Amino acid sequence: MDAARPVTRSEPALNADTATQLRLLDLQAADTALAQLTHRRGHLPELAAIADREKTAAELHNDVVDAQTKLSDIADEQRRLESDVDTVRARTARDESRLQAGGLPSRELESLQHEIATLARRQSTLEDELLDVMERAEEAEGALRDATARRDSVTAEQHDLEATRDAAFAEIDAAIAQRTPERAAIAAELPAELIALYERARSHGGTGAALLRQRRCEACHIELPGSELAAVRDAAPDEVVRCDNCRAILVRTAESGL
Ligand SMILES: [Zn+2]
Repeated sequence: MDAARPVTRSEPALNADTATQLRLLDLQAADTALAQLTHRRGHLPELAAIADREKTAAELHNDVVDAQTKLSDIADEQRRLESDVDTVRARTARDESRLQAGGLPSRELESLQHEIATLARRQSTLEDELLDVMERAEEAEGALRDATARRDSVTAEQHDLEATRDAAFAEIDAAIAQRTPERAAIAAELPAELIALYERARSHGGTGAALLRQRRCEACHIELPGSELAAVRDAAPDEVVRCDNCRAILVRTAESGL
């Protein structure tokens, strides 16, 4: 730190009467309020919760699709088995009517009886498989119902959270809509060069203007070192001074401890 360096550094000296400098604190208060509202809008707890539910619902939706695919495969299998059973029954009926018609040579009769027995075994096997498939279809239907219910429950949670978020957005947006013209009205009262300096300070450290209270900058909370304090003390009341640390405009009052 160079003790001889003026507080205003290379900035051109700017003057503003005490009342104007104090008004900068109102501008800062309005900007702080707006910044807090914007921050709150971007960091609502619902936003993370909604993203979480969206992700979970997408995963659960995949489970639903998997369960639907499985059920559809089982239904295909069931239809195929039912068609096979129909074919076997038709063939058995045809064989039996041939048998009842009689008059077959003994070798053909033997072959026909053999086929009827084979068809009966085949039908029994197919019917067992069909029962098994129907059981699996029931399980798959249950799994689909469960997966659908889980997904729908998470989606309902998501919609509730979205409603809460939208209510919070509406409240915040109303506050922003109210504060914005208030801020503009204060800014309109202040000289353009002072606003420009204030905005430069804001873009630098986040705070444009702060009270100097008990030798401490209320923006960065640093106590001004002796040399800087001496320069501030020596500055004319209407000279705009800034914090060497955070570059905020320092507004002096009786509480500044100078
Ligand atoms: Zn500071």
